[in-house]
Amino acid sequence: MWEEGGPQPHYLHKDACKHEYVTLPNQSRIPQLDERPGKSPAWKVAAICQNCRLHATILLDFAHVSHTLCPNVHFPLHFFKFVASDHTDNAVQYRFACTSWTCQVHLLVSYAPPTLNKDTLNLLTNEDNLARRCRAILDDEPGRKDVTLTTPIEALHRLKRYTDDSLKPTHEKRQFPAHNKKFLGAFGSDCHDFLKDLGFVYAVRFVSTYRCSSCSLIHLVRTPLTAVTSGSCLILV
Ligand SMILES: [Zn+2]
Ligand SMILES: [Zn+2]
Repeated sequence: MWEEGGPQPHYLHKDACKHEYVTLPNQSRIPQLDERPGKSPAWKVAAICQNCRLHATILLDFAHVSHTLCPNVHFPLHFFKFVASDHTDNAVQYRFACTSWTCQVHLLVSYAPPTLNKDTLNLLTNEDNLARRCRAILDDEPGRKDVTLTTPIEALHRLKRYTDDSLKPTHEKRQFPAHNKKFLGAFGSDCHDFLKDLGFVYAVRFVSTYRCSSCSLIHLVRTPLTAVTSGSCLILV
């Protein structure tokens, strides 16, 4: 795939991944039985390569449709022509439009690299890092008996659970206590930047004090912040 008049594409490197895609049903919008295009939201297929975890998305956008979509008596199939490409640090997108003047449906093909690259995988699952996070909990609370070393697979499993929970709009568990031993065992305090990049928001509990009228001692009141950025999760520290 290359732009008309642009440079010829490079040959694939011999070590390049021969992608083997599987569909991601939760991120796809596949037409229902007998559903007609044009009267519904865009149709979309999201897929991920099982080998290199490249994300691919193919989206059919009806927003530009004039009146008669393909197939029809004059145009039995869509015939797409390249329109433009958009490259960002994290993704590349190619836009095509059907050449039929009665159709003009747009096709968007985009690719994005895996969110967990080698560095972040190493940060999360390196056994030295996990041992250091475990020691930090014990240094903070010496003698604590319920702290166990988090294994690499447990760290990944916890990340999946937190992200799964955070992506459910109706789920109540959209706030995660960062002082929790399971959280600290998996992510410690050195994964803040990575979790922020994923969309998590760190918040400090608001602490206030008052003098107790019955015992005259000063008590601390911890109130979690309630403002949560839409689509993000709050991590209380
Ligand atoms: Zn691949
Ligand atoms: Zn068409």
